Amino acid sequence: MRSIDEVLLLGPGPSPTSAAVQRAQSRPLLGHLDPQFTPILDRIQVGLRRLFGTNNPLTLPLAGTGTAGMEALVANLVEPGDRVVVGVHGVFGQRFAEAVRRAGGDAVVVAAEFGASLDPDAFAAAIAGGPTRACVVVHAETSTGVLSDLRPFAAAARSADALLLVDCVTSIGGVALDFDALGVDAAFCGTQKCLSAPPGLAPVTFGERALARVAARRAPVPFYFDTRLLTGYFGPDRAYHYTAPISMLYALEAALDELEAEGMVAREARHRAVAASLRQGLEVLGLKPLVPVSHATPMLTTVRYPDGIDDKAFRGHLRQAHRIEVGGGLGPLAGKVFRVGLMGHGAQPANVLRALAAFGDALAAQGRPADVAGALAAARAV
Ligand SMILES: *Cc1c(COP(=O)(O)O)cnc(C)c1O
Repeated sequence: MRSIDEVLLLGPGPSPTSAAVQRAQSRPLLGHLDPQFTPILDRIQVGLRRLFGTNNPLTLPLAGTGTAGMEALVANLVEPGDRVVVGVHGVFGQRFAEAVRRAGGDAVVVAAEFGASLDPDAFAAAIAGGPTRACVVVHAETSTGVLSDLRPFAAAARSADALLLVDCVTSIGGVALDFDALGVDAAFCGTQKCLSAPPGLAPVTFGERALARVAARRAPVPFYFDTRLLTGYFGPDRAYHYTAPISMLYALEAALDELEAEGMVAREARHRAVAASLRQGLEVLGLKPLVPVSHATPMLTTVRYPDGIDDKAFRGHLRQAHRIEVGGGLGPLAGKVFRVGLMGHGAQPANVLRALAAFGDALAAQGRPADVAGALAAARAV
């Protein structure tokens, strides 16, 4: 086995895992139908329902990364010819629109610039533009750092009797979700962002209205993602559908235990506090966030490079000299921004200070000295 040095994961995911989560993951394997294992699955499903803010019985940790959760929604809920309105203001909205097209759906894109918010009126107008099967919002657009207020989108979906599908990969575990009250019909997320478990699971939830659409389908659903077959294992029968990824589920159970112990209200407040602290420090360093605080994601801050700062050299310096990983820009933002994730276990004041000091050093390495002591003082003052 090759040895590895620990890297502080302050990018758009994966986020750092706690020692307890790492220990849980290394426990001996059990069979996926073992009487010691199925209660673990029960607890995970209860924990996920609480996090999504739903009573949906079909709430489960699907095998695969977040994108597999997206595929599961599309596979079950989009049939050839279906009109699906997709909000696109970043890479993950683009990805969902592409998945709809590949399923033979008619993806009607409501676009906003990368870094801007979606316009709910334009979204409602698009839904009203034809018989719409479903509409899609990315709650926290990780490629830009914009958090959407879901309420107007939910109202638009409901008034047109369209299903509301939500990508909450980055928001879950970082901000409180209340999807039943909002009227979200199906949603998916991942485990490696604010849940701080390893990548490889995609928690998904399907509500009654969504499942009624599945029951009325004419086109078959791909076998692995078929909600009717998933219900066999993730429902009361616990009948084999596929071999559950046991070790990752151990880790997820431990991560949910930590979340439960902290409480979602305190956890959201922690994410907001470290993001505010980071912003104060960035300002002193002369680094400007892309998104105004009013509609920024608290778990991910996108930062503009000052003129003349090279992206590859900046992030390379952070990785080589400071063992810190941050994300680069995507799409039209490539080379223009870097993305700082303070997610889950990574959302700690000490990480803010370490990151700010490293950013200052990386600027200095490109001939642009910054006031690191002042930045740390400003961050500490929050
Ligand atoms: C990370 C992410 C995804 C994709 O998840 P993977 O685990 O990489 O498949 C989808 N949507 C959003 C908003 C994300 O942040």
